[in-house]
Amino acid sequence: NTNEMQIIFDSYSSNESFARVAVAAFMTSLNPTVEEVADVKTAVSEAVTNAVIHGYECRVEKIFLRCTTCEDTLEIEVEDHGKGIEDVTKAMEPLFTTRPELDRSGMGFSFMTAFMDQVEVSSEPGKGTIVKMKK
Ligand code: ATP
Ligand code: MG
Repeated sequence: NTNEMQIIFDSYSSNESFARVAVAAFMTSLNPTVEEVADVKTAVSEAVTNAVIHGYECRVEKIFLRCTTCEDTLEIEVEDHGKGIEDVTKAMEPLFTTRPELDRSGMGFSFMTAFMDQVEVSSEPGKGTIVKMKK
């Protein structure tokens, strides 16, 4: 049987820690290892940071977080209605960043891919981005 939660929060960077703690709390029913919880928290942090910095370019708008557990699997979606990504394949390459001036290293998607079992990004310029991850 499945269990689902959704949270909508403002794109303050201070809400990154709130989002990752919420997901960590939600996933406890799966009896995860300490390492699995750490991996998920890192991935959620990276996705939410991207929504704040790139999606909304630090304007304050809504970020949509959905989590589902089913059997032993956790599925997470982080959605913004911000500027979107023109070339997702390129954006997901290690070290690719459009904001080097902000000291970004272009590793966010690489961490998400490394720490989660599956990462899918759907995005449309001018519409927004959804990052769907499974663990
Ligand atoms: P780092 O995560 O290491 O600080 P970064 O955020 O630039 O640097 P990634 O997280 O890998 O690196 O993202 C790569 C690029 O994809 C970003 O530079 C940005 O252009 C684009 N991007 C990622 N997420 C979004 C988003 N939610 N909305 C718009 N563009 C995004
Ligand atoms: Mg990033």
